[in-house]
Amino acid sequence: MIKPKTEEEIELLRENAIIVSKTLAEVGKAVAPGVTTNTLCKVAETFIRDHGAIPSFLGFEGFPAAICASVNDVVVHGFPSDYVLKEGDIVSADIGTLYKGYNGDSCYTFPVGEVSPETRKLLDVTKESLYRGIAAAVAGARVGDIGYAVQSYAESFGFSVVRELEGHGIGREMHENPGVPNYGRPGRGTHLVDGMVLCIEPMINAGGKAVYLDRNGWAVHTADHKNSAHFELTVVVRKGRAEQLSTFDFIEKDGTIKF
Ligand code: MG
Ligand code: MG
Repeated sequence: MIKPKTEEEIELLRENAIIVSKTLAEVGKAVAPGVTTNTLCKVAETFIRDHGAIPSFLGFEGFPAAICASVNDVVVHGFPSDYVLKEGDIVSADIGTLYKGYNGDSCYTFPVGEVSPETRKLLDVTKESLYRGIAAAVAGARVGDIGYAVQSYAESFGFSVVRELEGHGIGREMHENPGVPNYGRPGRGTHLVDGMVLCIEPMINAGGKAVYLDRNGWAVHTADHKNSAHFELTVVVRKGRAEQLSTFDFIEKDGTIKF
């Protein structure tokens, strides 16, 4: 049995989630052709530290940077580098914080300048699959209901779901139980309880579902080198409707990124 979070814990997780959400928006403002992913990392780390938090990815199991910056065919865990973003790329920024002993963890995939209609579709469908997953994360449902909601939506567009990586609970640890796969069968898996806090994070490939691990031991690439998108939000399981702790509103409603 997984212990739900107390309301006090949820408030601390909310504080983290807001810092991460605002950090993603700062990164989004910096995304443009000609910018390196190292620059995005610096923007994020500065913002996180300026808000009294710690970038929790830095040094996590040896990860060398403050954020994951995954470009195009990199699904997750890309190292920020001197790679210069170009028009038509996509870059996902996955960001974690540690603040007051609790964790934040969210991700957004940004278009760089104008992207192709196919790529725009991948971003839109992946993000909507996340919202479908969130809609399924209600007390009394099960983890398989979330995965089924994500998978059935994404696959209906001919996209595929990465199997090797999944969402997770979050709290004092960045990754807690239960694991939250982005595929599954309704009515199966861990029972969802009011107060459980989950990071739901679909990783959706434009082509096939197969991936491989880069020789650097971290970056996960699509086997066919087609694009992959990744969106992640933190939610509280509630009766009737999940409560979102992190949000993309700072990215999408401040007018800095037009959709
Ligand atoms: Mg993440
Ligand atoms: Mg996560």
